Amino acid sequence: MYCPECGVGYRAGFTECSDCHVGLVEELPAPAEVPSPDLELVRVLEGNNQIAAAVAKMLLEEAGIPFYMEGEEVGVTMQAIDPHIYRWWGVQVARDHEAEARKLLDEAVAKEDLALDVDQEQPEIVEDTV
Ligand SMILES: [Zn+2]
Repeated sequence: MYCPECGVGYRAGFTECSDCHVGLVEELPAPAEVPSPDLELVRVLEGNNQIAAAVAKMLLEEAGIPFYMEGEEVGVTMQAIDPHIYRWWGVQVARDHEAEARKLLDEAVAKEDLALDVDQEQPEIVEDTV
């Protein structure tokens, strides 16, 4: 038994805190979770390559890291019009996921060559030899 006021534990049988004169409770209420007042978002990756954006998204989803995609709305629209238009995008995660996300994305960037500023691929022009 605990006193909800001062948190002092009592043995079974007691019903009232001798200090606070309030009824004891079985268990202390869990401390209210304090929502971080300033959930700070950090941009961990940005680029203009839609494929890289998709990969980054997939990696974060797999890792269960909540993220916010910047520039996505525009990108989708523009892609529908012309898939070759490269749109800027950014990935933001909460500060407490920053290290994890960076590690994940850095590895992917190194491995998959998700260069941040990918040159727009020009279709190869096959010249006819005359
Ligand atoms: Zn008390």
